[in-house]
Amino acid sequence: MNSDKSVALFDVVNPADGRPAGQAIDHGASAVAETVAELRRSQVEWERIGVRARAKWLLRYQDWLIDNAARLTDTVQAETGKTRFDAEIEVPAAIDLLKYWASHAERFLADEHPTPHSPIGITKRLLATYRPHPVVGIITPWNLPLLNPCFDMFAALMAGSAVLVKPSEVTPLSAVELARGWTEIEAPPVFSVLTGHGETGRAVVDTVDFVQFTGSTRTGRAIAVACGERLIPYSLELGGKDPAIVLADANIERAAAGIVYGALFNSGQACISVERVYVEAPVYDRFVTTLVDRVRALRQGADGRDFAFDIGAMATGTQLDIVRGHIEDARAKGARILLGGNATGAGLFFEPTVLVDVDHSMRCLTEETFGPIIPVIKVRDAAEAIRLANDSDYGLSATVWTGDRVRGERIARLLEVGAVNINDAYANLMNFALPMGGWKSSGIGARWGGAGGIRKYCRRQAITAPRGPLLAREPLWYPASRFRSRLVTTVMRAVDARGWRRVSLPLRRGR
Ligand code: NAD
Repeated sequence: MNSDKSVALFDVVNPADGRPAGQAIDHGASAVAETVAELRRSQVEWERIGVRARAKWLLRYQDWLIDNAARLTDTVQAETGKTRFDAEIEVPAAIDLLKYWASHAERFLADEHPTPHSPIGITKRLLATYRPHPVVGIITPWNLPLLNPCFDMFAALMAGSAVLVKPSEVTPLSAVELARGWTEIEAPPVFSVLTGHGETGRAVVDTVDFVQFTGSTRTGRAIAVACGERLIPYSLELGGKDPAIVLADANIERAAAGIVYGALFNSGQACISVERVYVEAPVYDRFVTTLVDRVRALRQGADGRDFAFDIGAMATGTQLDIVRGHIEDARAKGARILLGGNATGAGLFFEPTVLVDVDHSMRCLTEETFGPIIPVIKVRDAAEAIRLANDSDYGLSATVWTGDRVRGERIARLLEVGAVNINDAYANLMNFALPMGGWKSSGIGARWGGAGGIRKYCRRQAITAPRGPLLAREPLWYPASRFRSRLVTTVMRAVDARGWRRVSLPLRRGR
C-alpha cells in the first residue's frame, strides 16, 4: 500500500554477530495517510461480516502461523540475536492468544439489552452495541518482534477494527512477515504493516482512531499528549522495574530458579522481567549462593536452531550502554558484583550479572535496566520488602516467593502493581483471562483479561425504541401542559423519593 515515489530503505542487523538481517522501508507520513485511508474503506465490510466470519479468517491465519513457525522464528532470531529457546515461544504464544479471541469474541461483543434503571423505562426497548474504532494503530518495541504486534492485533481485528502495525525500526522484519501471512491467506485488506522510525510512529498517531502503544514510558507520554490533542483514545503498555520478594518460608531452590528465568529471559529485555530482588534476612545468604550457582551455570551465545545457549544478545548498542551505565554507577556507589558485570566483547552480549550491597540511591534499583542483571537487597522483614517494592515510579508487575499462598495473596494486595505472580515469574503473561496492564508510570489501560480486552477497541452505542403501539406524541412533547408535566414528574418522584410525604408532594400541593 505504499505509493512513495522514492523508497528509502534502512538496514536491519543481527546484534549477535553484526551481520545484515535484512532491509525495511522507511515509510513517510504520506504512506501512512494513504494506508489508513485504504484500511478505513475496507473496515466497513470487515465490521459488517460479523464476528463469526472474522473468526474464520483469524483461524486460517492461525494455520499459516503454525505452518510457518520455524521460518518466523528464524526471522525473530536474525533481527534480535536471541537464543532459539527464547525465540521459539513467540509463535505458540501468538496462536494461543489468537485462539482465545477467536473463541470468546462473540460472547464478549454480543448486544446487550439492559434492564431499565427505573419502571418508567419499561416504555422503551434498550439496546447497547459494541461498534469498533475503525482503524487501530499498534506501535511496538523490539524485544518480542513477532509477539508484540500479536499481543494486540487479534483482539482489534476480532472487534471489527482494521489494524495498522508500526513495528520498531530495530526489528521490523518479523512484523513484515506477519503482513505477508495475512496477504498469503487472501484475507480482506484490513491489516497492514508500515515500517519506519519514530516519525512513522508519529504519523500513525496523527491518523488512526485508536492507538495501542507498547514501548518506553518516555514515548508513551508523548503519544498520550498527541492523542489528547486529537481527542482519540489510547492504551499504553510501558516500562517496568519489577520487584521480587523472597520470604523466609520460600522454597529457595524454586525461588532462585524462577528469579533467574524471570530476570534473564530474553537477556532481561522484557517489560515484566525481574529487575530487583528483596530477600528476608534469614534466607538471604542461602538465596544468594543458590542464585549465583544457577547464574554461573548459564551458557551465553548465538545458537541458530540448536538450543545450545540460555542467554542471547542485547538487541541494540544503546541498550548495552544502559546496562553498562547501571553497573558502573552501582560499582562507583559501593555495590559488589558477585558474577558477570561486563560486556563480552564480541557481538552485543552482556554477561548475566548478580549484584549485592545495592540500595535505592543506585540507578540499577530505580531506573528500568532492561538487561541481564540481578541486584539483590537483604531486608529485615516482609514489611520492609513491600515498602521498598512500592518505592518506584513504575508499577507493572511483581513476584512473591513464599511457602504460604494466603500470605502471598495478602502481600500481593499491598503491592502497587498491575500483576503479581506468586511462586512464579511471567505466569500472568500467559493467562489471558487476566488483564495485563501497568499502574503508575507503567501504563494506562490493559490488554486481554476477558471482555474488557476486546471492548476497549469498541465504542458503545446506545439504541432505544418505544415498546408497544406508537402514541401520537410522548407526554413531554409540546405543547406544554400542566397535567402531562405533573403526570410525568409525579411518577418520577414516586419512583425515586423516600417516604409518602415526598412521593406525593407535587400533587398534594396542587401547583
Ligand atoms: P520506544 O518507546 O523507544 O519505541 C517503541 C516504538 O515507538 C517504536 O516502534 C518507535 O519507532 C516508536 N516511536 C518512537 N517515538 C515515537 C513517537 N513520538 N510517536 C509514535 N511512535 C514513536 O521503546 P523501545 O526501546 O523500542 O522498547 C523498550 C521499551 O518497551 C521498554 O521500556 C519496555 O519496558 C517497554 N515494553 C513494555 C511492554 C509492556 O507490555 N508493558 C512490553 C514490551 C516492552
